[in-house]
Formats: sequence, C-alpha cells, structure tokens
Amino acid sequence: MAHRRNERGEMCEVVKFTRSCTGCFEGGECMGLAHNYRFDSKAGCHVGAGCEECGYTGKRRQVLYIPLSQIKELNNSGAKKEK
Ligand SMILES: [Zn+2]
Repeated sequence: MAHRRNERGEMCEVVKFTRSCTGCFEGGECMGLAHNYRFDSKAGCHVGAGCEECGYTGKRRQVLYIPLSQIKELNNSGAKKEK
C-alpha cells in the first residue's frame, strides 16, 4: 500500500479505485437503472454512456487519501470487543 502525506501533513493511505462517471451514469434510486449500463467486471463498476467529463470512457479513476489515524478509528469502531 502506498502512503503519502496530505495537505495537512497527515500520513495517509492512498486508495485508488475505478467508479462510474457521475456525469454520464445514472444509477437511479438503489441502482434501479444500473442495468441500462454495461458492467465492467474488471473495474468493478458500471460504465456510463460517455461524456466530456470522463473522456468518453464512462468511468473515472478515483484516488482517496485516507489518514492512517482515521483508518485506526474505523477499525476500532468496527471491532466488537468481547469481555
Ligand atoms: Zn462521463
């Protein structure tokens, strides 16, 4: 996993994933319209119709910087401690 500091100087884990383009993919409520689009199993998301925003690929690369301290908190809150 790649690590990098964000603008606040916090050490972050860099999470990269592909998601449907918000400009040309309309999933509808509860993804009710998602079947109208092709599903890219490799990317793990639906592919939009294509627009200028995504360069007509229908999907976008997303990069998130999640502070390590936040990940720690998430792990703690998710784990159930048994007494
Ligand atoms: Zn698009």
